[in-house]
Order: sequence, then C-alpha cells, then structure tokens
Amino acid sequence: MRIEEELKLDFKDVLFRPKRSTLGSRAKVDLLRQYTFRHSGASSESVPIIAANMDTVGTFEMAAALGKHGMHVALHKHYSIDDYVAFFNASNAASNAHAFYSLGILEHDLEKFKAVRAKTGDEIKFVCIDVANGYTETFIDFVRKFRDAFPKITMMAGNVVTADITEALILAGADIVKVGIGPGSVCTTRKMTGVGYPQLSAIIECADAAHGLGGHITGDGGCTVPGDVAKAFGAGADFVMLGGMLAAHDESGGEIVQKEGKTYRKFYGMSSDVAMEKYAGGVAKYRASEGKAVTLEARGPVDNTVQEILGGLRSTCTYVGARKLKDLSKCTTFVRVTQQINEVYGKAPQ
Ligand code: 5GP
Repeated sequence: MRIEEELKLDFKDVLFRPKRSTLGSRAKVDLLRQYTFRHSGASSESVPIIAANMDTVGTFEMAAALGKHGMHVALHKHYSIDDYVAFFNASNAASNAHAFYSLGILEHDLEKFKAVRAKTGDEIKFVCIDVANGYTETFIDFVRKFRDAFPKITMMAGNVVTADITEALILAGADIVKVGIGPGSVCTTRKMTGVGYPQLSAIIECADAAHGLGGHITGDGGCTVPGDVAKAFGAGADFVMLGGMLAAHDESGGEIVQKEGKTYRKFYGMSSDVAMEKYAGGVAKYRASEGKAVTLEARGPVDNTVQEILGGLRSTCTYVGARKLKDLSKCTTFVRVTQQINEVYGKAPQ
C-alpha cells in the first residue's frame, strides 16, 4: 500500500486570480478554437463544449440547438441504426459537423457503427469511444484497432484520470482523451468503489501529458456552474463535456413528470439502475449500479443556459486578460480557497 501525499484539487478548491487587462468588452472575447488532431489529421473550428453522450442529454435535438452556437454533442449510443443514418445524412451541416458518434467496446457496438458508416460514407467525422474504466488492456487494444481501421476519423476515448494512461491512449491512436472518473452529477462510482481523482488536478495532469504528445483532452464531468467550465478550460482542457448542466431542457430528452402543477424531467447516469433496466434488461448480477436517477425541474429551451455558460466564460476571459479562449489557460493563476460562495441566503440556485 502507498499513499500519495501531494494535494489534488477540485473545481471548488480554487478561484481565478483577476489580472490587469487591456480588454475593452467581454463581447470581444473569441470562444472559437481551432484544432488539428494528431492522428486523424483533421482540423476543426468550434466552441469546444460537448453535450455528454447520455440519453437525457446527448440527443439529436440537442445537436441542432448546440450546433447553432458552434458547440458539439456526443450522441448517446441508443438510437437505432436508421435514426443515426438519417441524422448523419441530413443536410443540416450546422449540427452534423460537430456530432460525435458514441460507442462502447463490445462487438455489437462496433458492428452497429460499421452498419451506420456503411450508409453514411464519411459523414461521421468524430467518434467517442466510451467506457467507465479506461485502464484495461482490452480498451487500449480496441482504441488501437479502431485507429488502424479508421485512420481519418477523429477519435475521443476515455475515461481516465492520470498522465500515464493518457499517453498510452494517445500513442494507441486516440486524438482526444476523455478525463474524469467519479466527478459526474449522477455518478456514484466514488461511493460504490472508492475510486476517483479530483477533477481539476486530473485535467491539469492529463492535459500536460496529452499536449506533450500533440494530443488533446476533454474534461468530462463535475461542472455545476459556468465558473467550473471556465476553470476546466483554465486548467488546460481543450474540450469540456457537460451532462447535468444541459439536462432537463426541452432538447434533453428524458421522461416528463408533472407534479403539483410543475413540470419535471428525469435525468440519470448511464450505468444507473434506470438506464440498465431500459437498455440491458436490468443490472447484471456480478456488478452494482454506478449511477443514480434524479428528477429535475424542467428548464425550458437550452439556449438560455448556453447563453449563461458562454457569457460566464467570456467574462472569465476579461477578468484574466485573455482575448481568446485559446489564451485562457496561459492567463490563468488559480488561488486555493477554503470557501468560494457566500451562502448566507442559502445555496444559490444554479
Ligand atoms: P456531469 O456533467 O453531469 O457532472 O457529468 C457528466 C459525465 O458523467 C458523463 O459525461 C459521464 O462521463 C459521467 N456519467 C454519466 N453517467 C454515469 C454513470 O451512471 N456513472 C458514472 N460513474 N458516471 C457517469
């Protein structure tokens, strides 16, 4: 047994230190980022925020809504082949250009992907290969084989939280490594297994490892307010993935519940009992659920939330003197804090 003594940090442990700047207005801050990916060689220009591949977040409707803002969606993996084919072949370039096709590493995941690709040609530009535990040999082998088979597709793969496996995944063929074990709003991995890594430190360490190899990372999970999204970018994330912050909107999917005159939407983890009942006929005997289900007040169109997130991000950039999102990490000094929000009037609504 070993103990690492070095303190690891979460979003709640830091704040940005403001800096003198010549920036006139937050409206001038450029949130578009251009990337060229290490393996696929493809280039992209986008606002690098990705809706999570959960069936109560990463929907076709969300793709259309976020596509208008230049943002991404990782589609959940439970649509039918015909539905994906129709989506990727549709002429709505705004949403198609930024959508990730998500898959796991089972044989039938790959077969389904091949069936969709056979009918969509090169329309699928991004894939998200997603497993809860990115530390297995099987996963790294799958990434390697997928890269060999599809050299031009930009591949995001995860999840991991440490530099060593970030490097291994990039060397195996991943363009973007997805970082986060346990920080998610409907995740219970830390409770059920005791495994995890504070998300801000995971981003800092994995970004450093990936950038050294010409790779990219996505900070996935744990953002609860726009300031957390800014902190993830400040820490070095190239992309940030959001679940809970984009859940319960008109475009999010999720069963609608009416209670005492109010409208609510269900939101749940993809390895919760609810998801496993729905897609896998229940929780297999050898495993425990690692996600939970919540019922959230319906939040209307996602556009308002997007404005808040992007507005917050632009404002962070002006506080630290970053003209572009690209400069945010360079302009970031975090101060460690023991308290960040004044809760004298109760917890602020999100
Ligand atoms: P959030 O933005 O809601 O904090 O986190 C979203 C992320 O939580 C997802 O992108 C995914 O990585 C993770 N996640 C989603 N469902 C589950 C689940 O059932 N269990 C665990 N451990 N993580 C989940």
